[in-house]
Amino acid sequence: MKIGVVAVQGDVREHLAALERLGVEPVPVLKPVHLEGVSGLILPGGESTAIWRLLAWSGLVEPIEELHRTGTPFFGTCAGMVLLAKEIVNWHERFFGFIDIAVERNASGRQVDSFEVTLVVRGIGEVPAVFIRAPYIRRAGPGVDILAEYGGNPVMAREGKVLVASFHPELTDDLRVYELFLKMCG
Ligand code: GLN
Repeated sequence: MKIGVVAVQGDVREHLAALERLGVEPVPVLKPVHLEGVSGLILPGGESTAIWRLLAWSGLVEPIEELHRTGTPFFGTCAGMVLLAKEIVNWHERFFGFIDIAVERNASGRQVDSFEVTLVVRGIGEVPAVFIRAPYIRRAGPGVDILAEYGGNPVMAREGKVLVASFHPELTDDLRVYELFLKMCG
């Protein structure tokens, strides 16, 4: 099974390495042709505004929208969650909007305030989670399942084939969040 990782900016290598450990074929996505045959697409952490501009520059926005229309599962971590959210409460743009949530960018604090905690993820259990200038979910539509919260803030959610997490599973050794995504990918 091939899983694409948007590779224009952000912590791409760590996602590719995690997928390799899981025995699936990771595909760094830099141009539309790289999307051919992928069973799922990961949008990594990084800087959402920069990733968006580079996606547009690379001609990837429409092919990714088409992938979503045809039912391919998506997983967005941190900046990737911002890119997938329908609404961003403290930013003047929105990006793909594939999941009916409103997020607040940089809600967990500044880069120097990065931290690691243990979260209880529904269906998985205790998971180590690293937060770096993470978005928090401020509203979720009726079709959205909240899978984890931190300090009363929803930080992981799923709607249909779209999974999002405020934290960085690629920065810990725990692969169970990926396993949940891979199950969605068939
Ligand atoms: N603050 C970044 C953004 O909104 C996300 C930070 C991250 O991915 N670690 O794009």
